[in-house]
Amino acid sequence: MPFELELAHSPNGASAVSDADEATKTTSPFLRPRSIAVIGVSHNQDSLGSRLFQNIIDGSFPRPVYAVNKSGGTIREVALYRSVIDCPGPVDLALVIVPAAAVVQTAEECGKKGVKGLVVITAGFSETGAEGSERQKDLLAVCRRYGMRLMGPNCSGFVSTHPDFLNAQFTPYKPLPGKVGFFSQSGALGAAVFEYANRLGLGLSAFISVGNEADVSALDFIRVWKDDDNTDLILLYLESLGDPREFLRVAREVSKKKPILVVKGGRSTTGLRAAHSHTGALVEGSGSLIDTLFAQAGLVRTDTLEEMLDLAALLVTQPVPRGNRVGIVTNAGGAGILTADACEEFGLEVPELSQATQTALRAFLRPEASVRNPVDMLASSVLTDSASAARVMVRDAGIDGLIVLSAPPLFFTLDELSKKILAVDGEERPKIPIVISFLGSFGMSKVLTDGMARIPCYPIPRMAVQTLSRAVAYGRWLQKPPGTVPAFPGIRRSESRSLIDSASEFGRNWLSPEDANSLLAFYGIPTVKTAKASSADEAARAASELGGKVVLKGVAEGLVHKSDEGAVRVGLAGEAETREAAEAMAKRLAAAGHEVTGFLVQPMIPPGPEVIVGVTNNLAFGPVVVCGAGGVLVELLKDVSVRIAPITDVDASEMISSLKTYPALTGYRGAPPSDVPALREIILRVAALANDLPEVAELDLNPIIVQPFGSGAIVVDARVRLERSSKT
Ligand code: ADP
Ligand code: MG
Repeated sequence: MPFELELAHSPNGASAVSDADEATKTTSPFLRPRSIAVIGVSHNQDSLGSRLFQNIIDGSFPRPVYAVNKSGGTIREVALYRSVIDCPGPVDLALVIVPAAAVVQTAEECGKKGVKGLVVITAGFSETGAEGSERQKDLLAVCRRYGMRLMGPNCSGFVSTHPDFLNAQFTPYKPLPGKVGFFSQSGALGAAVFEYANRLGLGLSAFISVGNEADVSALDFIRVWKDDDNTDLILLYLESLGDPREFLRVAREVSKKKPILVVKGGRSTTGLRAAHSHTGALVEGSGSLIDTLFAQAGLVRTDTLEEMLDLAALLVTQPVPRGNRVGIVTNAGGAGILTADACEEFGLEVPELSQATQTALRAFLRPEASVRNPVDMLASSVLTDSASAARVMVRDAGIDGLIVLSAPPLFFTLDELSKKILAVDGEERPKIPIVISFLGSFGMSKVLTDGMARIPCYPIPRMAVQTLSRAVAYGRWLQKPPGTVPAFPGIRRSESRSLIDSASEFGRNWLSPEDANSLLAFYGIPTVKTAKASSADEAARAASELGGKVVLKGVAEGLVHKSDEGAVRVGLAGEAETREAAEAMAKRLAAAGHEVTGFLVQPMIPPGPEVIVGVTNNLAFGPVVVCGAGGVLVELLKDVSVRIAPITDVDASEMISSLKTYPALTGYRGAPPSDVPALREIILRVAALANDLPEVAELDLNPIIVQPFGSGAIVVDARVRLERSSKT
């Protein structure tokens, strides 16, 4: 048996099958079938089934394509087989457009025939309610039983342009062959995508629509395209993510190799639980977790499909910019200024060109021309001016990208200009991208888009700038070190597990302060020494044992934000002062309806920036880690960064440095710089804790008081809420 052979080759019995191999196996019956059957080709030439069949034939697919119709007969001299079983040769791929009620039976026949990939175009499944959902389940069960992979149901098929042109969809539109893999959860967008992409001269390696995505999903194709030499760029239109964590894992790796662009449709349900903690509230307030996920995975999100294709046109034809400094050359001063303004809006710089560049430009431009940047050649410029200016500017080491603008020129045509710029682009030159915008000419330049796009051209300069800025963002991602998720030796996992299990056993939702501190200690997270006292006298004794200044905190059932209720007193000195404070605190809390059950006494930690680090375990995304400006003002400041676990050391550093209040940690107004590495380590250890213990629904470390560099960071208040996760 071939399986035994494969196993014999794999070391230690581990699976030798990688993500990529698995994905290739999944997608090859679709993208590389040896033969095809279209099931549901009717005698009516306008039916979707007939159109789909005809599209495949018109695309000159070089291997057998069978047409199936339950009544048999012929259509335009093509034999119609009554069932897929009757097709004279083997069938790899079956495309199904029969009434919904007949789909499961048809799938069964395909299974018997040995079909490997089934595309169900028919609608009337989970998108229509309970009955449809049942039908989808049955369909999937048949596919599983026969080992068939399923695309759809309720999809509009696909087009693949490599290795053969296979146009397996029913609209009269089709893409140009090229290097862009497009995956869409909506099939209906296909025709519009083809039209817009064709206009840009942007070719596709494939367009895949999966409809209800019962089986094959975006991840399968992302994995295949990762190693596909015919796909340089991956475009996604998504409405939902099946498994966000797996998506993050795979996409973050692939996007280091090839850009992944995404448009997300639909309101995102972020799976938030009702928040009981600061962290929960902060995550809720910080925007969509989908955006967090995309950013963490290095995906470039655009607002519209058109913008995504505009960006694709840049990335498939031009090098990825290494920085954000832009040169602008124009024959219309106003256009140059508007474009420079747009650069500022989108975070691009327009630096003054080097002296050498300016001198070189002066040599051929008119004396009235401006050569600093934007370079304004004036309306009277001639064709060679533009080409020469572009040639000089792309060689200026001080810019990372060039925008060529032109208002309708006086002495030459835009096609002539396009040819000149193409020639410059083709010359041996430093690797910086060139983008073009021809103002006022809504059509694209024929020269630039005919056949294959070579330089992207946009009708509005602002579009050119926005698109370039997105390419810059991708460039930043490429330069960012990948980072690692550190393994911390010495974490006491089994003790943590028992602590959680015994707390859950007693039905406790909130860990007691001692348990919370123990849990943190098991994960190597430093917490302030905390003495427990059951009376004012005991608190006083604890204070004198600790010595120095202390902090007194009241403990009462349901008392959550202690300082709001006057249950925190800082800077107490000695026995008498502590006793007095404790008695007063108990009285005050009792008056407010909180019966004090005890006190916590802690040494007073020297002051430093207060930071919150927390976790909220999201139903869909798993543990979400937060770092922000902490202390009692946390909700007021709302200065927070959010990441989905697992997080890398690079993520953790970024979480800290992206805070608005980061300067407070680096030595603000004469304060000593804080121990940022210690804070980073706490973030990473908290992420490890949350990853290991799914019952931790919410965790708040607020505040962590960050000490001067080299002196650590210490948790003075920790709250942990447990919830039995459905996964455990
Ligand atoms: P709560 O969040 O329930 O109001 P905290 O324990 O966080 O109570 O304390 C509130 C504030 O008191 C903290 O933000 C911090 O400024 C200060 N504080 C608390 N414990 C200490 C300590 N051990 N050392 C120094 N300051 C502390
Ligand atoms: Mg607190």
